[in-house]
Amino acid sequence: MSQKNLGIIGGGQLGSMLSQAAKKLNINTIIYSDDFDAPAQNFCDEFIFGRYDDKKKILEFVNKADVITYEFENIPYETLNEMNKLKSVLPKPSVNRLIQHRLAEKDFINKLNIRTTRYVSIEKKTDIETLGDFLPGILKTTTMGYDGKGQYPLKKMEDLNSLNIDFSKEYILEKLVKLKKEISVIVTRFGINNFEIYEPIENTHQDQILKQSMIPAEVSKQIADQSKDWATRIAEELKYIGTLCVEFFIDRNENLYVNEIAPRVHNSGHLTINAFNVSQFENHIRAVCSLEKIPLKKISNAKMQNLIGKQIEPYRQNLKLSDKEFFFDYQKKEIKEKRKMGHITTLK
Ligand code: ADP
Ligand code: MG
Repeated sequence: MSQKNLGIIGGGQLGSMLSQAAKKLNINTIIYSDDFDAPAQNFCDEFIFGRYDDKKKILEFVNKADVITYEFENIPYETLNEMNKLKSVLPKPSVNRLIQHRLAEKDFINKLNIRTTRYVSIEKKTDIETLGDFLPGILKTTTMGYDGKGQYPLKKMEDLNSLNIDFSKEYILEKLVKLKKEISVIVTRFGINNFEIYEPIENTHQDQILKQSMIPAEVSKQIADQSKDWATRIAEELKYIGTLCVEFFIDRNENLYVNEIAPRVHNSGHLTINAFNVSQFENHIRAVCSLEKIPLKKISNAKMQNLIGKQIEPYRQNLKLSDKEFFFDYQKKEIKEKRKMGHITTLK
């Protein structure tokens, strides 16, 4: 039976776009967020503001929903697990717990015989001192990182002294890959061997933040096939329900690596709103609400540009757009440097 009231945890741009897709499917959305100014409140049917440990507010939210999903991975596992006892949380909380921890995530991927960057667990500063082999590398917090937050590039050992790193947190040290390209693959899984997969998307980053995504990705057929195969295997192994994104690196020798998994809809997939008959958001909702799966059809090649910080301003002032350009304003209250404010998709 299909579900009519969808609870979404998190109220950023992904929550907004999920709500817009839900509206089209006649599904009611209730968003729970710990951000009073969460932009998704402008797009959902009902908004509940509360902390992720506020049991009373969370119960109010759970009672209103038939099924619960989330737009970001850094939600306390206990919160998701408690909710899951009352209503089904999809993707299931154990998936989220695994992926929100970089070390557990990478161990899991390697167990599937899928290549990741070389990495090592770091618990204290002296752990790094014997690991010259991993430099140049990037030190990353094992939890709570996004858009390059919690990351420290290390070219040489001495850099450790100039960076003010808080070693009360856990880290992994990753060897830097000599990048040729980055791509991502988005897949929506509905059940056993039952999924829809989008073609690889080519991504460009600046300061560790996604700047641009485009299809088709300019990669060999072998890379395209391998990335899709790995993404599908990961989704299948996790018994995942909903939309998932796998981020990949391609090095200068044409080796493919999984960088990370996002257990949610993904910024690189915003172009699916205009370039496909069914977007990553609609597919996610169809999967978690047990709606019908529709065969995916590509409408057009496309390029998506993130509007970061002040880049949104000219677009807000009624910049003239052609009928192939689609502008999205996330309606965030304040413009901040490095904050994703909106995006523009151009069909080609
Ligand atoms: P986040 O969780 O912030 O998205 P990522 O691990 O995806 O963190 O890193 C963000 C970006 O930083 C990547 O997309 C890539 O451009 C760069 N990066 C991260 N790790 C490496 C690495 N080991 N080698 C080369 N580039 C990297
Ligand atoms: Mg990333």
